[in-house]
Amino acid sequence: MDLHIRDRVAVVTGGSSGIGLATVRHFLAEGAQVLSCARDPGGLERSVALLADEGLDIDRLVVQPCDVLDEPAVTALARLAHNRFGRVDMLVNNAGQARVSSFVTTSDADWEAELNLKFFSVIRPTRAFLPLLRVSDAASIVIVNSLLARQPEPHMVCTSAARAGVQNLAKSLSVELAPDIRVNSILLGTVNSGQWERRYAERARPGQSMTAWLAELAGEKRIPLGRMGEPNEPAAAILFLSSPLSSFTTGATLEIAGGVSRFA
Ligand code: NDP
Repeated sequence: MDLHIRDRVAVVTGGSSGIGLATVRHFLAEGAQVLSCARDPGGLERSVALLADEGLDIDRLVVQPCDVLDEPAVTALARLAHNRFGRVDMLVNNAGQARVSSFVTTSDADWEAELNLKFFSVIRPTRAFLPLLRVSDAASIVIVNSLLARQPEPHMVCTSAARAGVQNLAKSLSVELAPDIRVNSILLGTVNSGQWERRYAERARPGQSMTAWLAELAGEKRIPLGRMGEPNEPAAAILFLSSPLSSFTTGATLEIAGGVSRFA
């Protein structure tokens, strides 16, 4: 099926690892041009090398170190997109990570940091890329969010609350930016990525393989599909929601969680 994104321009924040990297890979495979950012230049360089090894056309890929919380850096990223492409068709607000803490273990500083990350990782790129999105005849924004937005977990109190706020923001954006720019979000369950590799290193029993640890985790979480997701699975949903194939879809939310949500 043709997604109609050949030669269109996509920006992916947090594109050096996990779901962001899988999204960059899918965009390149579909013939899109991609601007990918993350904080660590080394991670970005490794992502380019990996994609080149896979035979993807990396002449279509531009990478730029950028912390999405740093307003001047985000403005510079948008300027780079303007100079290189003149427009942006698809913005994927993906950069971020979760915070594991209960209410009593979350300090005010932790709350401020988490709310800042979750909100401004969407607000700053969205604001900076708006003029370039407005040039496109098929503009879209996809926000990568978590099931925690609707189903809070006691060990992730502040991330859950922040995620709920972002979900509300996504809806407001979809109304305010219509009809020119579509805005949709995905709610993730547990997806095997850099975040989980870091947690495996901290939490697995000595000698336990990553595969065995992930399988155990999927069992504990009672995921109906019986496993964690792989980055290419949310990436496929991101491509669909970004592309003109979903041209009548805005303000929508797609769950990519193996059926683990308990709400109807
Ligand atoms: P990874 O750790 O594999 O990837 C995160 C990416 O975001 C990296 O490229 C990282 O690069 C980048 N990043 C992090 N913070 C910033 C920042 N401030 N500015 C720019 N780039 C940043 O994790 P995932 O692929 O799992 O995460 C992708 C998104 O999905 C995140 O928002 C995460 O919270 C969300 N999510 C993931 C779930 C999962 O189970 N995997 C579940 C629910 C939500 P660098 O460190 O170099 O900046």
